[in-house]
Amino acid sequence: MGEEPCFTGRRGSGTIFFAGCPCHCLFCQNWQISGSGSDAPIVSEDEFYRVALGLIQRGVHNLNFVTPEHYWPHIEALCARLRDDGVKIPFLFNSSGYLLPAMIPRYAKLMDIFMPDFKFADSALARAVMRDERYPERARESLRLMVAEKGFLEPFDPTGANPARQGVLVRHLVLPGHVDNTRRALDWLREEFGRWLPLSLMSQYQPTPAARRQPPFDRPLARHEYDLAVEHAENLGFENILIQPAPISDDFFPDFSRRKPFKGNPD
Ligand code: SF4
Repeated sequence: MGEEPCFTGRRGSGTIFFAGCPCHCLFCQNWQISGSGSDAPIVSEDEFYRVALGLIQRGVHNLNFVTPEHYWPHIEALCARLRDDGVKIPFLFNSSGYLLPAMIPRYAKLMDIFMPDFKFADSALARAVMRDERYPERARESLRLMVAEKGFLEPFDPTGANPARQGVLVRHLVLPGHVDNTRRALDWLREEFGRWLPLSLMSQYQPTPAARRQPPFDRPLARHEYDLAVEHAENLGFENILIQPAPISDDFFPDFSRRKPFKGNPD
């Protein structure tokens, strides 16, 4: 239930988290599983299928593959099998945006929804956080291709009464001490896609153990920084924007050492 209401609706989004992530962000909230030393369980293709089926049988509105790109052959096989079985719910590709553009058409054959981040417009910041200044260029190209493949999210219903079926919603996390990065990211999104682009502007930044050693990432986002980001988005005229209410609860800040990583989820 911790995803955007467009995806969680009333019965939740069926998130499946994959271990490992090519980005290695300093502030990753999934740091317990996204680094290279994760001891996340290994499952066979049949177990993977049963996990997905279990979620579908619980009535989730979509299957939501989180950081999926490096497991793509397995996900591709799973999704093809589920469609052959008559499963109709949307499949959602939930990623950093740091992708090989040549792979997007292949993802789009099976995925209905893309939810990419657009984290950094500033290549120096990308280098500082994930040690790769190519992020802005790669993510821009990926986002263009995703929107060309699927269009904007439909329906875009911030109440969650009509969960999304298809299209693209872009996420951006506002970082402490880096409101200028947010302004530049929003400027580019507005210029490239116009004011109807569905956008989730996130304020939930919390320092991870690694980030606590590197100011300004060693503190939560200040409310006035988030307010400046929202003001900029409003000045740019974005119409389909999800804004996080204050204060941010830690209900959906994960702890993967627990059997139930998100305490805000029902049992
Ligand atoms: S892209 Fe997301 S999952 Fe990957 S390291 Fe960065 S914050 Fe974590």
